[in-house]
Amino acid sequence: MPQPPAPTLAVIGGGQLARMMAQPAIALGLPLRLLAEGPDVSAAQVIPDHLVGDYRDLDTLRSVTAGCAVVTFDHEHVPTDHLRALEADLAVRPGPEALVHAQDKAVMRARLAELGVPCPRNAVVRTVAEVEAFGFPCVLKTTRGGYDGKGVWMVEAAAEAHAAFDAAEAAGVQVLAEELVDFRRELSALVARSPSGQAAAYPVVASTQVDGVCLEVVAPAPDLSSELAGQAQQIALRIAGELDVTGILAVELFETTDGRVLVNELAMRPHNTGHWTQDGAVTSQFENHLRAVMDLPLGSPAPRARWTVMVNILGGPEDTGRLYDGLPHAMARDPFLRVHFYGKELRPGRKVGHVNVYGDDLDDCLERARHAAAWFRGDLGDESE
Ligand code: ADP
Repeated sequence: MPQPPAPTLAVIGGGQLARMMAQPAIALGLPLRLLAEGPDVSAAQVIPDHLVGDYRDLDTLRSVTAGCAVVTFDHEHVPTDHLRALEADLAVRPGPEALVHAQDKAVMRARLAELGVPCPRNAVVRTVAEVEAFGFPCVLKTTRGGYDGKGVWMVEAAAEAHAAFDAAEAAGVQVLAEELVDFRRELSALVARSPSGQAAAYPVVASTQVDGVCLEVVAPAPDLSSELAGQAQQIALRIAGELDVTGILAVELFETTDGRVLVNELAMRPHNTGHWTQDGAVTSQFENHLRAVMDLPLGSPAPRARWTVMVNILGGPEDTGRLYDGLPHAMARDPFLRVHFYGKELRPGRKVGHVNVYGDDLDDCLERARHAAAWFRGDLGDESE
């Protein structure tokens, strides 16, 4: 096979984020090489140059990155020591010293405190007695390995604290206690940053989480004061710079009922709260992630429309078969609807796709996006009226 003309980018992890990186990679003529968890996973379906293997094995990581200029990630679970080892051979973006702040919530909290970034009151706790001393109600989190609300417990009494310690012990990680924040809503501030230090901030969005899973995103966050929006963007830009993040950084925030923003957590990869950018921004988060990790000039993060609404499609209790069969109706009902499927089978609670709707009227965008997502999930009856 002839050598590809551009330097190859290795991507570790074959989920939907890697799959959606493939679209702008095609447009930019950027060859991708993927390490996938299995032969049929979401990104392996669309990236022909893939290898199936375990990202926890250094030799496997080396065989997939051999000959590549840069390696980036679909998730944050590659062991930090492996990332350090890979740095001898190629650019690791984001690098291990940055990524550890997205991998370990205790490390992240300690660093943000040093930087003076506003966070919920928190402490690493070793025993139930220490949780009692911290105070109830509180939120207990395993410091590593959690996602989509797994590894998070809302605790009101000592008896409820054991589950977190059991899970932490089984996983060999610590427990972090946080005050239960009284928040009005959750916000997300997304920035892209390149190794040269160029940065681009997307409009701050509002996200709705149900059982720890992101369900809906509205861009920009409705009725957010320009002061808080500016603060949230400044926090994200500052963290990206101080931690030397390369690629996309998502900063999940709480907007408190008394009008402050507090950082909940960090992600250093394209993020669910940035999926709206595929159709609602000049440059999608996936394209800006690629540009950033390849140290190319960033594209504009400006919105293309007044409002963009993203609604995730989650599997319901049973597979109704509506996902693909639902396309004719959804497309006929709304020719402006943008559909993104991940090539995954419907399973209860699993993210299998999302829809984006943009326009001038927020209520109309919400109605259309929610309707389409519910239709694909199979929650709506036959609409062949
Ligand atoms: P994950 O790493 O699984 O995404 P998060 O730390 O984002 O976990 O927590 C999941 C959800 O739990 C958050 O989106 C939020 O709704 C809720 N949550 C987390 N921390 C707190 C807190 N300190 N106070 C109130 N709610 C919280």
